[in-house]
Amino acid sequence: MSSPGSLDPVADCPFCHIVAGTRAARFVWETDAVVAFRDIAPAAPTHVLIIPRSHVPDALSLGASHAALLAELFVVARRVAEAEGVASSGFRLVLNVGTDGGNTVNHLHLHLLGGRPMSWPPG
Ligand code: AMP
Ligand code: ZN
Repeated sequence: MSSPGSLDPVADCPFCHIVAGTRAARFVWETDAVVAFRDIAPAAPTHVLIIPRSHVPDALSLGASHAALLAELFVVARRVAEAEGVASSGFRLVLNVGTDGGNTVNHLHLHLLGGRPMSWPPG
């Protein structure tokens, strides 16, 4: 797979390093604006993170100017779900925000979790 490149790297952001190719990751999908790679500590048989190449800190940073980017994130999520074979069995998309939301990496990312039944409500 070709180098994913970087649009707006942030030096201390691990996901910007993944986008730039200076940190290893197992990529599963790439578009001009979005990359998807396997979570390093999977919480389900399929656990893929879908992120913008550009450094958007979190969901609280989003505005109307991000409309096309958000659409692309969700289109990539669908493509990944299909490629991973979980589209028909079902999957969960999670976007953690802030401390209580469990956010630990401050670069916007969608978790795609699948391959097992998910409980609700989450813990
Ligand atoms: P969150 O808690 O929503 O911020 O999710 C961050 C996720 O990033 C966690 O599930 C981590 O396991 C994952 N993660 C952190 N560093 C890496 C990395 N270098 N490569 C892949 N996944 C990572
Ligand atoms: Zn970043």
